[in-house]
Amino acid sequence: MNVSDRHAVDLSSGLEDVPVLFTGLTLPTFQYSPDNVQGPGCTVDPSEVTVPGCSCRSHSCFTESCSCLQTHGRAYSSTGTLLELTRTDSGYCSPAFECNALCTCSDACSNRVVQRGLQLRLEVFGTRNRGWGVRTLEEIPRGTFVCEYAGEVISFGEARRRQLAQRSEENNYIIAVREHAGTGSITETFVDPAQVGNVGRFLNHSCLPNLFMLPVRAHSVIPRLALFAGRDIDAQEELTFDYSGGYTDQNPVELLSTQSESAVQASRTDGLQRKACHCGANKCTRFLPLDLSILS
Ligand SMILES: [Zn+2]
Ligand SMILES: [Zn+2]
Ligand SMILES: [Zn+2]
Repeated sequence: MNVSDRHAVDLSSGLEDVPVLFTGLTLPTFQYSPDNVQGPGCTVDPSEVTVPGCSCRSHSCFTESCSCLQTHGRAYSSTGTLLELTRTDSGYCSPAFECNALCTCSDACSNRVVQRGLQLRLEVFGTRNRGWGVRTLEEIPRGTFVCEYAGEVISFGEARRRQLAQRSEENNYIIAVREHAGTGSITETFVDPAQVGNVGRFLNHSCLPNLFMLPVRAHSVIPRLALFAGRDIDAQEELTFDYSGGYTDQNPVELLSTQSESAVQASRTDGLQRKACHCGANKCTRFLPLDLSILS
């Protein structure tokens, strides 16, 4: 892809394997981080390895012999695309687990996808009526990992404090992910990329999105909020996801894993002010999702 605009810069300043192109005049003010960072109230450093690994000596792990795959199931095909898309279409999906830094398999193991980081050429651009957006400069096949929604991992209290302090014209970037274990316990993760974040913070909401979010754990117990292509995506298409965690014709649901009897729900609230949605989809709800659960 020829970048004709001579002002194009890499928003990640070399922190990603591929540049995140940005061709606007004024650089958005935030600190780029490809990975989640520890924010106020978060007791675990997301960069620390806190998950046990497998002892496979193979190039890539096999379900027959790998403790990681036996415990958590196989999330990806041998080429690294997500296997459980059909379950996602029905509104259900399981959080995925990857091999981690303690595993003895190779870095090329097919059970390592999201941890490799951004591999696609994306561009942050100014949309006509929705502020910044992200488009892809290359085709993306269905099931491909696109990018993370990375930022500061903060506590419930800090998320609540930040949301209450927002002015009405400010964007809310906080995503809340709730995972319900079969035992009735709930794990909540709050990620805020407003001050420190990656390219994911520029993704717009759509009521008919082409990406969907899935929590993926690699080295840390803190999930990475990974965005995958829900369908084949053409070059130059804008990338979007449903801030309320839904995909296709499904209402936002508690994503349920039959395997571990856990359920996942992800949502990005839009603060106290209802904001108009300009996604243009036929089924557009005309408003960005509103979720006051952080405030209650
Ligand atoms: Zn492995
Ligand atoms: Zn293994
Ligand atoms: Zn492993």
